[in-house]
Amino acid sequence: MDFKLDETQEMVRETAYRLSRDVLEPRAAEIDRSHEFPEEQIRALAEAGLLGVNVPEEYGGSEAGVVSYSLAVMEIAAACAATSVTMAVTNMVAEIICAFGTEEMKKKHVPKLCSAEYPAGAFALSEPQAGSDAGSLKTRARKKDGRWVINGSKQWITSGNVAGVLVVWARTGGPGAAGVSAFLVEGGTPGLIADPPESKMGQRGSPTVGLTFEDCEVPEDALLGEEGKGFRIAMSALDGGRVGVASQAVGIARAALDASIAYSRDRQAFGSSIGSFQAIQWKLADMATQIEAARLLALQAALLKEKGRPFTTKASMAKLFASEMAVKACLDAVQIHGGYGYVDDFPVERYLRDVRTTTIYEGTSEIQRLVIARNLLSS
Ligand SMILES: Cc1cc2nc3c(=O)[nH]c(=O)nc-3n(C[C@H](O)[C@H](O)[C@H](O)COP(=O)(O)OP(=O)(O)OC[C@H]3O[C@@H](n4cnc5c(N)ncnc54)[C@H](O)[C@@H]3O)c2cc1C
Repeated sequence: MDFKLDETQEMVRETAYRLSRDVLEPRAAEIDRSHEFPEEQIRALAEAGLLGVNVPEEYGGSEAGVVSYSLAVMEIAAACAATSVTMAVTNMVAEIICAFGTEEMKKKHVPKLCSAEYPAGAFALSEPQAGSDAGSLKTRARKKDGRWVINGSKQWITSGNVAGVLVVWARTGGPGAAGVSAFLVEGGTPGLIADPPESKMGQRGSPTVGLTFEDCEVPEDALLGEEGKGFRIAMSALDGGRVGVASQAVGIARAALDASIAYSRDRQAFGSSIGSFQAIQWKLADMATQIEAARLLALQAALLKEKGRPFTTKASMAKLFASEMAVKACLDAVQIHGGYGYVDDFPVERYLRDVRTTTIYEGTSEIQRLVIARNLLSS
């Protein structure tokens, strides 16, 4: 076993780190306050090859692999969580199209996702009444005169109002997962209506919207993969997505640790720096240890995916552990900052707000435990 990054992985990590330091970090607090979609930052990611990290070069990607992708998300999330979630979903959509789309779909959409000609991609699975239980979704697609007509509504869709292309799951058959198909819907298609963005606790530069489909017509060849096989596409994409969320959580937690170390050195109490108190030292030591464990879990899941080996359980473990760990690390970071942790003069309150949703989206912690336990009991 070799823990050393290869040249490509090191280069991608370094590129993402520099971009985070020079472009993202200086604007992250402002984006959080203004709720502004980080369009300029997304263009910078595209120029650095970070919107299609695991996408073949022939479709505009960097073809640098899943480990590189995980490392890049960690660096971007450490600076700006809102940018990192936009990046992660856009990468995910590009990968879905590469894995399940026709040649025509790949040529049409993937280069635009990787180059930021589309401001983002969107993954439209959840509905107002169907989140964890996504197989019970109600949005319906019916065939009419050689076209698909979609009706229904989606909820919580990251970048749903700005995306150039959306993967949309809709029911084409009977109840349950077997009746679900996936479609590619272009942004701006008549009948696709986005609600105003939700007012969120964190990741505020990333718009999360409800979508309504009102007789939204798409061509017959907008069907992604086979009819009735859409749920499998969603589940396989979410396995990869969970590597992204785990990486994001690691990045945010690391930023919280770095801020806490700096503060612990500076802040004086009882005649010495608070870093000299064992209570603070133990918090820092626990944070660092748990971040390292989460990082290794995320990279392990990434490597398994990269090698084409089964990684569902490992991705769920990485997502579960990293997100729960990161919430705790950010809570501790606020505690280490005392009263200053509770105001936005320091970034740790933003890290805590940003990280909170990592235990919720792309499958809650409860659903990750369900996936892990199911695989344990069936093996
Ligand atoms: C900021 C943000 C961005 C998002 N982006 C997207 C996106 O881009 N695309 C998309 O499709 N969705 C997106 N989501 C939706 C997200 O994936 C769902 O919120 C999540 O899957 C949970 O679904 P729910 O909110 O309906 O909660 P519910 O499914 O109603 O769950 C409520 C509670 O019950 C628990 N629960 C449910 N079922 C079980 C069970 N069987 N066993 C034990 N506990 C259970 C859950 O863990 C949770 O604690 C986003 C959500 C947020 C907050």
